Amino acid sequence: MRVRPMTWLLSALATAAAVTATALAVPQGGDRSPDDRTAPAARDARAAGKAKPDAHDVVLAVHGGAGTALDRDKTSPEREKAYRDGLTRALRAGQKVLDKGGSSLDAVQAAVVELEDDPLFNAGKGAVFTADAGHELDASIMRGSDLKAGAVAGVKSLRNPIAGARAVMDKSQHVLLAGEGADDFGARQGLKTVTQDYYWTQARWDALMAAKAAEKGDKKAARSSAALADAQSKGTVGAVAVDRRRDLAAATSTGGMTNKLPGRVGDSPLIGSGTYAKNGTVAASATGTGEVFIRGAATSTISNLVEFKGADVAKAAYEVVVKRLPALGGDGGVIALAPNGDFDAPHSSPGMLHGYLTKGGQVVTKIFPDETPPNS
Ligand code: ASP
Repeated sequence: MRVRPMTWLLSALATAAAVTATALAVPQGGDRSPDDRTAPAARDARAAGKAKPDAHDVVLAVHGGAGTALDRDKTSPEREKAYRDGLTRALRAGQKVLDKGGSSLDAVQAAVVELEDDPLFNAGKGAVFTADAGHELDASIMRGSDLKAGAVAGVKSLRNPIAGARAVMDKSQHVLLAGEGADDFGARQGLKTVTQDYYWTQARWDALMAAKAAEKGDKKAARSSAALADAQSKGTVGAVAVDRRRDLAAATSTGGMTNKLPGRVGDSPLIGSGTYAKNGTVAASATGTGEVFIRGAATSTISNLVEFKGADVAKAAYEVVVKRLPALGGDGGVIALAPNGDFDAPHSSPGMLHGYLTKGGQVVTKIFPDETPPNS
């Protein structure tokens, strides 16, 4: 089940040689309504009005990470479609659960599983590489009605780390399992397991190579590598939802940061940093420089501002993500959903991929910085 790093490194190198640099898989299909594209006229509508909800009547939202985001001029129509389709598929997967009267908890899990299975995103298949060319994945999930939560950190063989997090929540006395123990627990719960090569993608491999080149001071090689852009477009995924009972839930899953030290754990599996859901306040999932989101206790602080300061969700999320966290030396964003369906996705990074589904069934995806202006 577990592959030793060297064996795995050799197999990765062999595969790397055999696959062209354009091997980023483009997901096929995906049901997509004409509403799926954001109308250009609406793009800058909120640029001036900071800390206001981006949308109302939202029942489910997903993100595909914060980072440099996609450049409209350099993104092919196929690539744009692949990102929008990926986000849309995740929203539709969660919608299926909610439409049947299912829980927000099941909906966020279903949405995140879709994104983990999509190689475009840095979670599950398509996870970034550690410094020793392995993959260590983190995920967490939380239910707002009773503050129950589950998480896994540094897993190496669960196909869907978010399912591992859910199993920890439902089937153990604990909140967070890490490393081998988490992998073994997931396997014993009957979750799908994979070998490390499953997570491999050319783009993430190139990103690791670019990071190594940059580390060695080979600035030219690092700059010239298109992969660096991918390294910076971090691609962590997350989901937030509210169901018919007004129960909130949130989930986050990631491969972490490219070239991270083996053993490094980011904010994504940490309740109160990467993920938080509390009925009556907020469901929030974060993405960005994990260390800063941990130190700033990002998502629980948003909840506390709503609960103790009476801030609305958009203002609270803006205050934490745009005003406070950058001072700690990192950037990123959060998707934040209020129990009444008010939704916002403030970010201090140049871009943040995200999308949402309204009560009426409308899907909106935002992938270009002009659709999601930073600091707004
Ligand atoms: N927050 C994630 C981590 O630090 C990375 C990301 O969101 O891009 O592991």
